[in-house]
Amino acid sequence: MRRELIFARDEYRCVYCGERFEPELLTVDHVQPRMRGGDRSGGNLVTACGGCNARKGPLRLAEFLRADDAARDHFFRLAAPHVWPRILRTLREELECSG
Ligand SMILES: [Zn+2]
Repeated sequence: MRRELIFARDEYRCVYCGERFEPELLTVDHVQPRMRGGDRSGGNLVTACGGCNARKGPLRLAEFLRADDAARDHFFRLAAPHVWPRILRTLREELECSG
C-alpha cells in the first residue's frame, strides 16, 4: 500500500505519540517486521513520526510498546482498528509474555 494512503488513513497522526505531522516528517512502520514475514499490505503498515521511529530503533514493536505506556495506549487506540487481527493477536501475545 502506498505510503501516502497510509498517512491519509491515519490522518497524518503518528500512532505512537498521537501527534500530527507534515507528510515529509512521517515514516511508514511495519507492525510485523519484513524479516519476520510482514508484508506491505495496509493491515501491516502504520504511520510513525521520525522521532518515534528513532526512539523505537531496532526494538521489536512489543518491546517498544512494553517500555512506553503512552505509545502503547496510542497504538491500540489509533492503529489497532486498521491492523490485521492475526498480527494484533501475535503482538498482544508478545506483550503479555514476560510483560
Ligand atoms: Zn511519534
